[in-house]
Amino acid sequence: MKAAENKQPSARVYACPNCKSSIIWDSNNPSRPFCSDKCKNHDFVAWANEEHAIAGNPIYDDVLTADIENS
Ligand SMILES: [Zn+2]
Repeated sequence: MKAAENKQPSARVYACPNCKSSIIWDSNNPSRPFCSDKCKNHDFVAWANEEHAIAGNPIYDDVLTADIENS
């Protein structure tokens, strides 16, 4: 039985859900499963916009977006 593919059992490479970049899973990364806070926030904004488009509440959408950009 060969163990050549088992050199780094703790290192897992995956694709960022937003930008599809190949990144190594790091339990110390607060942005996971995204590669960075930028991608994490981008995904949240897209999700929030979709939610509010369905709810039909453009005023609340503007408030939420501004809050994210200022943080
Ligand atoms: Zn990313």
